[in-house]
Amino acid sequence: MGGAVVKKGRIYEGKAKVVYETDDPSTVIIEFKDDATAFDGKKRGTIGGKGEACAAITARAFEYLESCGIATHYRGWISRREIAARRVRILPVEAVVRNVVAGSLAKRLGLEEGLSLREPVFETYYKSDELGDPMVNDYHILALGLATREEIAVIERMSLEINRHLTEFFDKAGLRLVDFKLEFGVADGDILLADEISPDTCRLWDKESLTKLDKDRFRRDLGGVEEAYQEVVRRVELAHGMAR
Ligand code: UDP
Repeated sequence: MGGAVVKKGRIYEGKAKVVYETDDPSTVIIEFKDDATAFDGKKRGTIGGKGEACAAITARAFEYLESCGIATHYRGWISRREIAARRVRILPVEAVVRNVVAGSLAKRLGLEEGLSLREPVFETYYKSDELGDPMVNDYHILALGLATREEIAVIERMSLEINRHLTEFFDKAGLRLVDFKLEFGVADGDILLADEISPDTCRLWDKESLTKLDKDRFRRDLGGVEEAYQEVVRRVELAHGMAR
């Protein structure tokens, strides 16, 4: 699936991905790069094999979510570092769901990393590189016209449902889904899960040892970054099949 489209010019290049248009106006090709950035682009580097790892994990996660009835932009696998996706208008609101305290939540509320939350926490951030993605609430989103009330409600409902499915998806691979960031897009009035699901956008800890197997290894100079991404691919493929 997806192999029939012909790649054309690039329409967008971000920190970790390039988006190409295709001969089908409703389909784009997303290429995952090895480039990594953190702290609003202040820290830069490359992680060998990251593009392929993130493409593989994203493809598996989107296939799984589709099988659970979640509407996503995913249209299929193109090559080792490329997927086909429905062309969408990305909403400038990033959704974060947290199951365990980590990262900015630990800092902001003075909590210890690793504390299990009594229930999942849903947060929204304004997608703006210049501002460093500040946290916003529904009032800000509506007042700035970033999304409609209906869109906010759908994003929240879908994010919490996706959290339930992804928690199971990663649990089967021996991983604890600590927290993650989602982006949503609009196409023909439908709200679809878009962007990626990978160790770049999720905190994933080994279920038993709590070893970090995600981008925090890069952010915090923990070493073993490439190995961590490969380990997540290996476990996801093992748990969710190799067939393509
Ligand atoms: N995240 C992301 N992109 C961002 C900010 C956060 O993918 O621009 C992810 C991050 O990997 C983590 C979750 O969202 O899984 C929550 O991140 P947090 O707010 O703790 O911020 P961080 O500590 O990453 O700055």
